[in-house]
Amino acid sequence: MFENVGGKIKAVALAFFWLGCIGGALGGLVTAAEVDGFEGLLSFVIITAISVFLSWLSSLLLYGFGELIESSSFTASEMEKLNEKTKSAPPPSVQTSSAPVSHFYSASEKNVKVCKNCGAKNDKSSSKCRLCDASL
Ligand SMILES: [Zn+2]
Repeated sequence: MFENVGGKIKAVALAFFWLGCIGGALGGLVTAAEVDGFEGLLSFVIITAISVFLSWLSSLLLYGFGELIESSSFTASEMEKLNEKTKSAPPPSVQTSSAPVSHFYSASEKNVKVCKNCGAKNDKSSSKCRLCDASL
């Protein structure tokens, strides 16, 4: 029901404009019928012109509003498409390969010297802690 609101508003604006024109012309005719001669014709022209102008002005605003909604909803749907594209795209590959050195330390605890100062695991052959530089 509320799909394509912008397009509907534009259609309503056009209908509003034509109704205003017809209504204005009818009003002008009714007024002109009561006035004789040139003044009657003049009042018909003036009333019709004013009605057409007013309905044009109001429908112009309505039409512009519809256009705005249409373009913004278009932008929204485009953004949604763009978002979906980004979602479906594979995430940037994360470097899962862990550093071989730390893996080595955790795998074989026998070849490890644990730092008394900070608790970091160090290579058995190392004399100083790799983290805090304390002598092992
Ligand atoms: Zn340490």
